[in-house]
Amino acid sequence: MRRLLPRALVTVLVAAAIVVPSAPALAAPVFKVPFPCGQVWGGQTRTDHSPVNAVDFNRADDVDDLVYASAPGMVDLVGDQGASGYGKYLRINHGGGYTTYYAHLNNWYVAVGAQVGYGSPVGIVGSTGNSTGPHLHYEQRLNGSSVRVKFDGVEALYYGSRNYTSSNACDGAGTGAGYIDTANSGAQNLYSAPGTSYPVAGSRNDGTYVTIYCQKAGQSVTGKWGTGNVWNRIGTNQFVPDVNTDTGYTGFIPSVARCP
Ligand SMILES: [Zn+2]
Repeated sequence: MRRLLPRALVTVLVAAAIVVPSAPALAAPVFKVPFPCGQVWGGQTRTDHSPVNAVDFNRADDVDDLVYASAPGMVDLVGDQGASGYGKYLRINHGGGYTTYYAHLNNWYVAVGAQVGYGSPVGIVGSTGNSTGPHLHYEQRLNGSSVRVKFDGVEALYYGSRNYTSSNACDGAGTGAGYIDTANSGAQNLYSAPGTSYPVAGSRNDGTYVTIYCQKAGQSVTGKWGTGNVWNRIGTNQFVPDVNTDTGYTGFIPSVARCP
């Protein structure tokens, strides 16, 4: 587990205690582990953490792994504290006074005002801010105060480390995300259906971030990430080979639906 430097973080957290409009207590949203369906992440709580109810998540080679919204809501804060505190972080407002925080991100996938749901990628794991290695710092707050984290209605382990398996968007209702990856060999053609014999329907430059709405088996092609027959729909009638999309997965993404 990567530890933060608690004393320094306390100062920043006070500064970051942005007032959330108070609201009558409503039933808490059903929060999910903030990673794609089926992934297993080590979650650590500890008495010297700031705030003390936060959870730090790690798994092997987790830098740039996708972070998902843990419940539906609206992104109401996207911030960068530079080399201190949270670094790149964001907040999702779930209504009823409930918010969640995602910190030390390498990058954001959403802007303020974005409506998100289970399975919505909001960013990628990093080590920005006051962090000594890649991990996700995660908080649940009620009316601005950090509360003990629950997943699927069950309180996390306080205090200690255990594995958490994500049930986030396991119904396949989520979207995926990734980057066009042609290994710097130029723009990637999009096709109106999952095969190169279909009409070209635009192109995307290498390195472009894309949202994946659904996936479908089609023509087997060879690309940056090997040979495969999975295609990603990234727009209306716009398909790109999964072997030229860096999604963090090989082939189908568990939380993403099959295209009709
Ligand atoms: Zn932390």
